[in-house]
Amino acid sequence: MTTPQLTLYNTLTRTKETFVPIDVGNVCMYACGPTVYDFAHIGNGRMAIVFDLLFRLLRQVYGTDHVTYVRNITDVDDKINARAARDFPGLPLNDAIRRVTEGTAAQYQSDVTALGCLEPTIQPRATDNIAEMQALIGLLIRRGHAYVTNGEVLFAVSSMSDYGKLSGRNLEDNLAGARIAVEAHKRNPADFVLWKQSSDDQSGWDSPWGRGRPGWHIECSAMSGRYLGQLFDIHGGGLDLIFPHHENEIAQSRCAHGTPAMANVWMHNSFLQVKGQKMSKSLGNFFTIAQLLETKDFGGRQWPGDVLRLAMLMTHYREPIDFTVKRLEEAETKLRDWQRAAQGATLADGDGPDASVVSELADDLGFHRANIALDVIAKKANREGNEVAKHCLAATLRFLGFGLDTLLVSEGETAEPPHLAAAIAERLDACNAKDFAKADAIRAQLAEQGITLMDYKDETGARQTRWEIRR
Ligand code: AMP
Ligand code: ZN
Repeated sequence: MTTPQLTLYNTLTRTKETFVPIDVGNVCMYACGPTVYDFAHIGNGRMAIVFDLLFRLLRQVYGTDHVTYVRNITDVDDKINARAARDFPGLPLNDAIRRVTEGTAAQYQSDVTALGCLEPTIQPRATDNIAEMQALIGLLIRRGHAYVTNGEVLFAVSSMSDYGKLSGRNLEDNLAGARIAVEAHKRNPADFVLWKQSSDDQSGWDSPWGRGRPGWHIECSAMSGRYLGQLFDIHGGGLDLIFPHHENEIAQSRCAHGTPAMANVWMHNSFLQVKGQKMSKSLGNFFTIAQLLETKDFGGRQWPGDVLRLAMLMTHYREPIDFTVKRLEEAETKLRDWQRAAQGATLADGDGPDASVVSELADDLGFHRANIALDVIAKKANREGNEVAKHCLAATLRFLGFGLDTLLVSEGETAEPPHLAAAIAERLDACNAKDFAKADAIRAQLAEQGITLMDYKDETGARQTRWEIRR
């Protein structure tokens, strides 16, 4: 396969650009990871999935061993302190914090693995990079970009002539925004914290500026610099991170190193929304990934990770998605159709994806177009004896992060398990008699054996049931 040319939308220039790696032997990307104080919701999951797709694409284009993906773990945060004090009141603070952050980080990893995301190459923790943060802050002070006041170290935004380029805000906008409280100790109201003092009941580290802890933005400047260098290829995250987080990362990194850029391409995924509003912890309109996988809280049923993954990818990453049951059902129908068409293919390790799918993704991650190409291959694969298409479909699904081990065996493709007809008939009787508790119990019992039931109405309007078995 010839190497496709990648084009990516760059928030910094507001255009789609041809992607030219700094070093084709080691393409570097960084994405802002979770703050580990609570379960991740499926909106956070969208971000992990989008950048996982990019990671997979880069590996395909430049070679598996020629891409470094860093996604950090923010394990210093005031919300973490509060959670530690609440959940582990008897423990010394540092131990309590470790318990919260380790448990949450492990949960995050298992959640995004269920969503088909590969592990990034490196997942640094903020608490393992405090010395790097302090070194950066020291450089910023020495170069006249930061100052110590009131026990804090602040970044002086007016020391950077082009501060605000990423978000398109200028300092006057920030002032006019007035949401930044006027704090007398700041030279400019938009100056932000690099280091702040900690009280005894807060996590803290010794520093030239007293016992304290880092501000949020300095973490990512320190960790990206340490693992990817002063200038790297791609930096990503959700739209909400453009300002202030990414703007401030750029200010810190560029001013500390005296460089014209921090990353060449800045990519931002749009939001997962609920009834037109961003899914977020603070609005309380969220479903955690674990909740969707394991409970029936959304739409009265559990949702497999691969279905959630496709539901997040079917819309282009720069468009908002509304989170609805209908969307998940559409994703499930489509995915199961593809998986069924690919069934029986045996893959070798090196079998690669379809070229047309890769070239759609190479155009700013156009999964919504790749999706159509997949339908075409699936149609071919469904034709009797078209082993080439079947094999290509299986390899492409694997490349996209959809497991083939969850392929379904549906009615007509295998002998029906002996007890199934009787159980389905009993459940239908229960439904017709409005004994839904019994009907649900039978469905749950079958689900434990990997059998999924789907009700539909036949041409006479009578309720019928189809079934599928997960292999
Ligand atoms: P947070 O834990 O809120 O800092 O979010 C972690 C990552 O998920 C960041 O890159 C956010 O931009 C992203 N994110 C948060 N909420 C959403 C959402 N509703 N839709 C898409 N991405 C989100
Ligand atoms: Zn960050």
